[in-house]
Amino acid sequence: MPELPDLLYIQAYLQSAVHHVTVGTLRVTQPVILRSLVHASPADTLQGKQIHHVSVRGPFIRISLSGGIEVVINLMLAGRLQHQKPGEKAARSLCLSLSLSDGSRLNLCDETKMAKVYLAATDDLDRIPAYRTLGVDVLSPEFSEKCFFALAREHPGKQVRSFINNHSLISAIGNAYADEILFEARLHPKTFVRTCSEDDLRRLYTAIRTILQWGIQEVRNAAQPIHVKVREHVRVRNRRGEPCPRCGTTIRREGVRGYDVFFCPVCQPATRTPFIDWRTTPPNG
Ligand SMILES: [Zn+2]
Repeated sequence: MPELPDLLYIQAYLQSAVHHVTVGTLRVTQPVILRSLVHASPADTLQGKQIHHVSVRGPFIRISLSGGIEVVINLMLAGRLQHQKPGEKAARSLCLSLSLSDGSRLNLCDETKMAKVYLAATDDLDRIPAYRTLGVDVLSPEFSEKCFFALAREHPGKQVRSFINNHSLISAIGNAYADEILFEARLHPKTFVRTCSEDDLRRLYTAIRTILQWGIQEVRNAAQPIHVKVREHVRVRNRRGEPCPRCGTTIRREGVRGYDVFFCPVCQPATRTPFIDWRTTPPNG
């Protein structure tokens, strides 16, 4: 649920709110959340460490502590991080809580218990599943139009929705913003990459950049506590049955490879003229 714009907001908040604060005790109420890659007990490993830096990589929030210790968090579908200040209540479905030297707590709450908190030495970060295999950072200079076209050429058989949502290719676009990006680019979610024209791909690339920047700005402007989900600005995601903000047609929901996707059937028509006829030109041929 928390996606790149949310994670960047959480990162900026934590970087200013808990920077140089020292960690006290760890309380774990849902042990399934915690994956320790260190030898000592997680509580002993964390106690007395200072928070040095907070960063985002793909779907992960990485909190770097003194002593070369890292807390790497994947909030998955429903996890939320809460910064609980003195006098405030913990949010619902508390799974794990760290006390901090300024009297506040850092909580992880998740009713589905699918979130994961990895504790690892800096040298061992590659042992975290899916951390090593992340694709090109979507906000980095490396993610150029040329890079995007090259990825598209390598994956002609994917549907555009799965293509842009694949974290090992592009790191990382979540379900909500993937729907918003395809709406912006006016591409049907089930369009095969191989049938996209050069203009389609260029529009898609531009939409990725535009929509993520828009999302980042919207989440920042909402200025909510970090555990609150900010999604009021989205135009198609979870808006099944509502009118398309562009043409008024009813927004539809469909499944793409097991995931719910939301789109406008008029703005994002199902058929497009193939740029290359792959029936006669095999992929990579
Ligand atoms: Zn529409």
